[in-house]
This record gives sequence, structure tokens and C-alpha cells, in this order.
Amino acid sequence: MVQGKHQSPNRFQSSISESLGHWSLVIIWDLVIGILFITFASGVDISGTGMDIIVCIKQVVVGDQVKIDPQTHSLVRSAEFSRINPFDLFTLDMAVQLKKEYSGSITAITMGPKISEEVLWKALAIGADRAILLSDSRFAASDTLATSYVLGMGIRKIGKFDLILCGMRTTDSDTAQVGPQLAEELDIPHITGVEKLEKKKNLFRVERASDGFREILEVSIPSLFAISPKAAVRLPSLIEIQDAFTKYSIECWDLEDLNADPMKVGSGGSCTWVEELIPIAQQKSCIFIEGEPRQQAKSLLSKLIEKNLLS
Ligand code: FAD
Repeated sequence: MVQGKHQSPNRFQSSISESLGHWSLVIIWDLVIGILFITFASGVDISGTGMDIIVCIKQVVVGDQVKIDPQTHSLVRSAEFSRINPFDLFTLDMAVQLKKEYSGSITAITMGPKISEEVLWKALAIGADRAILLSDSRFAASDTLATSYVLGMGIRKIGKFDLILCGMRTTDSDTAQVGPQLAEELDIPHITGVEKLEKKKNLFRVERASDGFREILEVSIPSLFAISPKAAVRLPSLIEIQDAFTKYSIECWDLEDLNADPMKVGSGGSCTWVEELIPIAQQKSCIFIEGEPRQQAKSLLSKLIEKNLLS
């Protein structure tokens, strides 16, 4: 500011207040930088309410394309007939809502063959910040316990987290065991069928439906929750999928990266195995009942009684 020799008192006053304003801005700015420096240098979490969320996602075989290897009795997986487990989409959706509310991060993790990367790209497009594929030929043929062990080792390697979210079940193996087993592996509490969750100081407040009641539970952090499916879920747009490919990459960890025990993975590390698989023959037939409406109704009634469907 150019100052004239003969300033009016008002001009002079405003120049003082502008200068004071400038210096107070400089002091505030220095204070902010100082606080940020001390905070980062000391490793203190400045987000305070931030939530670090891990979401477990499985790639499943599309329903009517399930083929079984006659030798190993394992599912035959191919990129063409695989997709993200629909129940895990609800979980991702919940993670995105929680991140919007509390800030923090979402890490998506899956154990599976290389083709399982596809579900991680989808997770990144939906809102995950990081994606990890646990893949090694020695992980193949793992039962739910070995799967939970591998996921647990992956999560130990990730390190800090506040909560782990799983789907309620999968549409191919459909055991609903992985969530609870993973919580046991990591020695943290778990709740299944979770519909709503919020963070309250040092714990989570969780709502779940049970036998016509609404249960409200409080559980310590960190915890694992299996999320109940809801009516609708948001799918990523093509632009979001394209953005994910340009913005992110997928980390891939094998047995050595996880420092995992080879005796606890794959068929050797599994305490259950498939002895035999017998396809269920579904017999459907269609019978047309001819005649007048009254006669048709009589005929239908007697057929239902004949088949023990009505008594
Ligand atoms: P659920 O427990 O129903 O899944 C619940 C949630 O856990 C999912 O929504 C997801 O959030 C998470 N989750 C589950 N699996 C994963 C994953 N891989 N990565 C990340 N998150 C996950 N498979 C073989 O390929 N070869 C075999 O020989 C074989 N033997 C089996 C023997 C038995 C007795 C059983 C029960 C299963 C066997 N399986 C085998 C299948 C294998 O155990 C499952 O694919 C896997 O453990 C997941 O189980 P699930 O699909 O029932 O998951």
C-alpha cells in the first residue's frame, strides 16, 4: 500500500488495521503450520473421529454357471462367469456411508486367484481408497478356516484399523462362517446381521434385527461386523470405473509377503474337505387343467390333496 505524506486520520487508521490484520494472519498461519508439524511429527491422529475400515470382498461364481472339478471337488472359477458377491456390495455401501460421516479410509481386501482383481477394481470405483489381493497358488482349496487365516494375516500386515466389514454370506459356498472365523483369528469381537452402526467415543453402537426385535448393542473398537443386506445398493458408473483404473493400483501379496504358515493354508491347512458332491435333480413339470372354471377348481383341489399339499 502506497502511503501519502498527508493522510486523513481515517486513511491512517485503516492502514494500521490492515497492517495489524496482515500480521495477525501471518501469526495465525505460523501457528497452524506449527500445530500441523507437531501433530504429524508426533504421529497423533488429527482426524479424531476418522474411521479406518477394512472391507472383505469375495469373487463368486455366477449362480447358473457353477461347475465342479470332478477330481478336486472344487468350484471351477473363470473370469467370464465370476462377479462380486452381491452381499458384499451392501457392505461396501455401508463403508462409503461411514466414511462420508466420520472421514477415514476404506481398504478392500480379497483372497483369490488373479482374476479376483476384478472385484477390487469395482470396490475402488465404489469408493475404496486402497485394494489388496491375497493370491498364491498355495492358498487354493482353502476351506473357510484357512481362508480366514489368510485374510487375518493380510489384515495384520495392513496394521491399523477400526472395523472390519464382511458380507452376511456368499452366493456360491454360502457358509456365512468367514466373518466370525476371521474375528476369532484376530481375537476381536464380532456381530452379525448388522443394519446400522455409529461410533460413540471409544465404542460402536450397533443395531440388528432378531426374532421380531431390534437389538441395540455396544461393542469395543476394533470389531468385525457382518452387514445385513438391504433393499437397494448403489452401483458404480462407467466414469467411476474408468477413474479407478487411472487413479489406483492393486497391491498383491503372496504367502511370503504375509509371513504366513504354509501348513495353515490350502487343502493342507483346511480341517474340512468335500467328500462328494451330489447335484440336486430339480424336477419340474407343468400340468394344464382343462374344463369349466368350477371343474378346473375342483380338479386343482383334488390334485393338491393328492400331493399332500393340502389336507
Ligand atoms: P461366507 O462365509 O459365506 O462369506 C461371508 C463373507 O466373508 C463374505 O461376504 C465376504 O465378506 C467374506 N469372504 C468370504 N470369502 C472371502 C475371500 N476369499 N476373500 C475376502 N473375503 C471373503 N473352495 C475351494 O476352492 N476348494 C476347496 O477344496 C474347498 N473346500 C471347501 C470345503 C468345505 C467343507 C467348505 C465349507 C468350503 C470349501 N471351499 C473350497 C470353499 C471355500 O471355503 C470358500 O470359498 C471360502 O472359504 C469362503 O467361504 P464362503 O463362500 O462360504 O463365505
